[in-house]
Amino acid sequence: MDISAYLVGHEAAIRFGAFLSVFALMAAWEVAGPRRALAVHKGRRWLTNLGITLLNIAVVRVLFPTAAVGMAVAVGERHWGLFNAVSVPAPLAFVLSLIALDILIWAQHIAFHRVPLLARRHRVHHADLDFDVTTGFRFHPIEIVLSLLIKFAAIVALGAPAAVVLVFELALSLGSLFNHGNVRMPERIDRVLRWLVVTPDMHRVHHSVEPEEINSNYGFFLSWWDRLFGTYRAAPRAGHDAMTIGVRDTRDPGVCAALWPMLMLPFRERADDFPCLRSALRGRASP
Ligand SMILES: [Zn+2]
Ligand SMILES: [Zn+2]
Repeated sequence: MDISAYLVGHEAAIRFGAFLSVFALMAAWEVAGPRRALAVHKGRRWLTNLGITLLNIAVVRVLFPTAAVGMAVAVGERHWGLFNAVSVPAPLAFVLSLIALDILIWAQHIAFHRVPLLARRHRVHHADLDFDVTTGFRFHPIEIVLSLLIKFAAIVALGAPAAVVLVFELALSLGSLFNHGNVRMPERIDRVLRWLVVTPDMHRVHHSVEPEEINSNYGFFLSWWDRLFGTYRAAPRAGHDAMTIGVRDTRDPGVCAALWPMLMLPFRERADDFPCLRSALRGRASP
């Protein structure tokens, strides 16, 4: 069995095993060394966030049974995309594809803040009143499907190898569990780590209710793009303990920590309490 066939055959098991291990590790770290006190009862939030996750897994498995890795294998067999057209050493194609996919996810995240129709979906991620490991996979199913379609298009354009796509999918999902952790990390380690990857203290700034803070730190895995394009913010103005997490006017736990109201949130009439959306509508988006 060649490597591509092996990856497709075991993709779900590899991702599920890695996801469960890192989730358990982060959950234990949150109990042993929490960064902030939670505002909402943990069981209630976790039930909602895990419910959204299970729904997303089901939707993706039904709509795209072969997932992104399967798409990469099909692209490779047909010799589509940049890296199948030009002769590039395999290790270089591996690194360049990874970096290209990561900057794409960064740009996509900005689009999900600036385009009102997309921002209504992304608001579900931000409406979580707390910030912990379960926030890392709390995304509206429509956002999940749209971002998968964007990823498919990038895989076709790049001709990204299946192994790269698997590594990238792992980096993205495990990175999301890590950088949403409500965990206390020594400042020295955080400072060194965030030169390469997004750390919890870095991403937490993006979950602030303050417009200039929510409009910063869009990175999901590599931390470079925010520094490079001027959207990097080192810390929240009020400090990590005092900052307010969530969306400014959507603060009812009966809505923010409940499955059905969260799924319906993008379709509710009122949506002008998401600072980026409000800025975009006014045509004066903050930097
Ligand atoms: Zn965001
Ligand atoms: Zn987030």
